[in-house]
Amino acid sequence: MLPVAGYAGLMSALQTLLSDVFGYDSFRPGQAEIIEAVTAGEDVLAILPTGAGKSLCYQLPALAREGLTVVVSPLIALMRDQVRALRSAGVAAGALTSGNTEEETEAVFAALDAGALRLLYIAPERLALGGTERLLRRAGVRMIAVDEAHCVSQWGHDFRPDYLRVGALREALGDVQMTAFTATADAETRAEIVERLFNAPPREFLSGFDRPNLYLAFQPKDRPRQQILHFVLPRRGQSGIVYAGTRNKTEALAGALRQEGINAISYHAGMEAEARREAEERFQREDGIVVCATVAFGMGVDKPDIRFVAHADLPKSIESYYQEVGRAGRDGDPADTLTLYGADDIRFRRAQIDEGLAPPDRKAADHARLNTLLALAEAPTCRRETLLGYFGEHTSGGCGGCDLCREAPERFDGTEAAQKALSTVYRTEERFGAGHLIDILLGKATEKVRARGHERLSTFGIGTEFDQRQWQTVFLQLMALDMVRPDAARHGALRLTEAARPVLRGESALRLRRDSLNRVARRPAPRAMVSDENAPLLSALKAKRRELAEAAKVPAYVIFPDRTLIEMTEHRPGSLDAMARINGVGAKKLEKFGATFLAVLTGDAPDPVHPTRRAAALDGSGDLYDALAAAQSDLVFGPDGTEKRLDCSAKLIAAIAAAKPSSQDALARIPGMDERRLARFGPTFLRVIAEH
Ligand code: ADP
Ligand code: MG
Repeated sequence: MLPVAGYAGLMSALQTLLSDVFGYDSFRPGQAEIIEAVTAGEDVLAILPTGAGKSLCYQLPALAREGLTVVVSPLIALMRDQVRALRSAGVAAGALTSGNTEEETEAVFAALDAGALRLLYIAPERLALGGTERLLRRAGVRMIAVDEAHCVSQWGHDFRPDYLRVGALREALGDVQMTAFTATADAETRAEIVERLFNAPPREFLSGFDRPNLYLAFQPKDRPRQQILHFVLPRRGQSGIVYAGTRNKTEALAGALRQEGINAISYHAGMEAEARREAEERFQREDGIVVCATVAFGMGVDKPDIRFVAHADLPKSIESYYQEVGRAGRDGDPADTLTLYGADDIRFRRAQIDEGLAPPDRKAADHARLNTLLALAEAPTCRRETLLGYFGEHTSGGCGGCDLCREAPERFDGTEAAQKALSTVYRTEERFGAGHLIDILLGKATEKVRARGHERLSTFGIGTEFDQRQWQTVFLQLMALDMVRPDAARHGALRLTEAARPVLRGESALRLRRDSLNRVARRPAPRAMVSDENAPLLSALKAKRRELAEAAKVPAYVIFPDRTLIEMTEHRPGSLDAMARINGVGAKKLEKFGATFLAVLTGDAPDPVHPTRRAAALDGSGDLYDALAAAQSDLVFGPDGTEKRLDCSAKLIAAIAAAKPSSQDALARIPGMDERRLARFGPTFLRVIAEH
């Protein structure tokens, strides 16, 4: 049975059963606490909404311990379904109901006598039969679980007189452990359940799933490393978790955060047990520490003041999502979450399901569960409403604590765009990925297009109203809506699903998010007004603009238009790289004014910015340049600070950042990289480059 070594040991053993027997990757909200108490032998009354997953709360403890669990349940059809599902998962379960055949009943008796049964479902009528009590006394019952326990209430709609016999059965079995489950939450019913079923007040679980102190946000991936840095850096000094999909990514992200002066560590299953324990302990103990981890991290971690959780990659399911973000803010204070998702995540998760060993119906269910997470990512309104609705809890929406409530995305009638995209998938026989399909839509006669005669398709060149990145976001949304599905067997070629047909046939319309279309390309003009808190900063920027304009004897807008200054107050770029992403800050202007306005924004005197560094900011290698520059300045006097001074010129660092050499040899070929520099900086530079 379960090797119980403390809370973490118990929970990880339960987690193993959860995935091995039931095929789920995470507990749903509420389940873990209840299952823990039930497994520990407590009497429990749990009230959870319909669809929340109550069955698991007695099934899992039944499997985690020795002995027989008797389940009293009112609906014969439901019992038979559950028994069938358990058996197909390899669990010895049986039912005694009036729907049984002779043989079925005989088989159950035989299994009971052999002590082989783990779960026995009993219809309440059965309790009225004389032999039942005797039978169960012989069978060694460990626990009674009463499902739909409100049926014991004489005042409810579902009163079942036979439920009143359950209390007597408990006594007859020597006051075995009693657990009861229902979705009916009113106080009278609860009191009645307690009185009729239990011999002493049980531990009660009654709580909604909402965690109002968690801020919920999703973003499509667009330079994900930058997005994570932009999320974490303003939260300097707070503790948080950044979940990433691969071991390498956890290390690269932790490295990038350390470069920015954040106390960051990494954690994944590939680390030695000792190193993992150490990381867990540090995270538990230290303030303002960030752990970049795979999902191996978290079970059994009990740090109340985790202020943020970010997902650098899409979680596995909506259950995993809520369990993982739920690790933030246990102290009840506000905590932030951000989940990134992109086409690569969808491809990866679909392939993971398709390539798994599960039977076809489980795969279909897993795809459907992935769809619910994607639907949350692409939700049109209040995320909390969508999320809690999935777990069976209905709210009126408009929580105010999610990105969609804070700023509703603009939507447009995307029916025509979707039709163009979908019919291009169809006309190319569902054999290509988004890249090629977009080339066709844009009318690009690439070699691949010409080789396949795709320039003759009727959809060739019909999509010029969008650019390539805008089409990418259309395809991402179509993937998230499961209208096109990447096919692992065909290297991720997009196939049409049933959901696409009504749109293709013009029978149903589709609204798409506009914000991501603009966010990556032309952003909408920021509102003319700025918030109160940004107003002083805007005045300061305008004053600086006036000063420059007067000196140059040009109108102010020639320096920067208002729009650009407003964007600066909203995005608060903290570096030249970030500045370069503000609309209206082109190469020339970044060079001329970037550092000056940056100084106003950060309130610092401008760091002298090397012109080479400015050039690197413009070609996108600026981050790597910074990382390399930081690494080299650490090594100027050697690894332990005792050697002769040796440094690299800005020009040399820029050349390395641009060339991104991946080997010692390639690095040695860069002009200026002589033997001495190679020896001192080479290994570190290569590591920094690899991490990028
Ligand atoms: P309830 O009895 O609370 O209405 P059920 O026990 O019938 O809910 O479960 C509802 C659905 O949720 C079932 O399809 C079940 O398989 C699924 N489910 C339960 N727990 C989990 C979990 N941890 N992860 C994914 N699905 C789950
Ligand atoms: Mg149920």
